[in-house]
Amino acid sequence: MKNPISLAQGREYLAIPGPSVMPDVVLQAMHRASPNIYEGELIDMMPDLTRDLCGVARTDHQVAIYIANGHGTWEAALSNVIAPGDIVLAPASGLFAHGWAEMAAGIGAQVKLIDFGTSSPWEFDQIAETLREDSAHDIKAVLAVHVDTSSSIRNDIHALRDLLDELDHPALLMADCIASLCCDRFEMDAWGVDVMVTACQKGLMTPAGVGFVFFNDKAQGRRAQMPRVSKYWDWQPRANPDQFYQFFNGTAPTQHLYGLRAALDLIHGEGIEHIWARHRQLAKAVWAACERWSEGGALQINVDEPTHRSHAVTALRLTEGRGTALRNYCKDQLGLTLGIGLGMEDKESCFRLGHMGHVNGQMILAMLASIETGMAALDIPRGSGAVEAAALVLAKQS
Ligand SMILES: *Cc1c(COP(=O)(O)O)cnc(C)c1O
Repeated sequence: MKNPISLAQGREYLAIPGPSVMPDVVLQAMHRASPNIYEGELIDMMPDLTRDLCGVARTDHQVAIYIANGHGTWEAALSNVIAPGDIVLAPASGLFAHGWAEMAAGIGAQVKLIDFGTSSPWEFDQIAETLREDSAHDIKAVLAVHVDTSSSIRNDIHALRDLLDELDHPALLMADCIASLCCDRFEMDAWGVDVMVTACQKGLMTPAGVGFVFFNDKAQGRRAQMPRVSKYWDWQPRANPDQFYQFFNGTAPTQHLYGLRAALDLIHGEGIEHIWARHRQLAKAVWAACERWSEGGALQINVDEPTHRSHAVTALRLTEGRGTALRNYCKDQLGLTLGIGLGMEDKESCFRLGHMGHVNGQMILAMLASIETGMAALDIPRGSGAVEAAALVLAKQS
């Protein structure tokens, strides 16, 4: 089912939920010889860099930087506050929650996992029951994935804090914002999050390789009581270094820091509130198109309820395993790469749209029109007017 002529030449759009599209200014900022790591510009830019990172995390507390991907920040965060034998609670709405729970088990924690499946958000009654049963307060932390990128479910972190407070439970609230930071609204301090982990290759628009652990005084208090903390993961010297090399416990990721600086400048130039609003508008356009397509019976949006949908990624399913066929068509014929299904039963059916970071209206409209083209080429039944519905959302900003 291929066109005689492939139309994939030209600039490609990698529409997957991370790594996201890199702004040219980020790439250009990284394209340089390694700078002096003993003195000068690189060292001098660190205070503003950490201040601006805390700004996007909406916290007045501390940040430790790691040369790591998101998985590395999971282990880094856990290593500072979870001792072998400690119990952690992991409410799961997708693959990444399971991944974080496994990381906790790997450092010796006992994991209580509550599985809500792959298309439902947390049910607070169930979480409350588990916390209530824990009258001795053996649960030391709750591992809360804000947006689970596999299912595209967005969970309500703020409501989880309210629940912990209501039950007077002292467990740390630890949030994974790897997919949500700078896409979906997140307010670390206002929402009472004690530890937050994220990485640079999604909303932060920088090539993968640097990760962050933000922590407040309560988490720092727990850190101080730990019998031992891995010297490499220890957040203490990284957040309060006497010397530059301590930021990274070794050589700095020099080019990455320049890229990150450029990305933070873009973010501050646009403003975080505007960034959240842009992602919301673009996500609504994506959903409007998907809802029209779904009228044909072949396409299904994984998350029914819009208030539980991420603004950064949308997980979809096509009947008869045609998700893979559609992805291949878009990639080979049109130069558009869509995300694979993750953590779902039928891998060939599921696929995901990344709409995070450096994306604008024309990219989203082109992505949707490309999918329409692919569905037409593959004779996939679909409701009509999908691209028009998306255009109307953007035109009316409804
Ligand atoms: C991408 C992602 C991860 C994993 O990050 P890596 O950089 O691939 O290790 C973890 N959690 C969430 C929610 C993610 O979106």
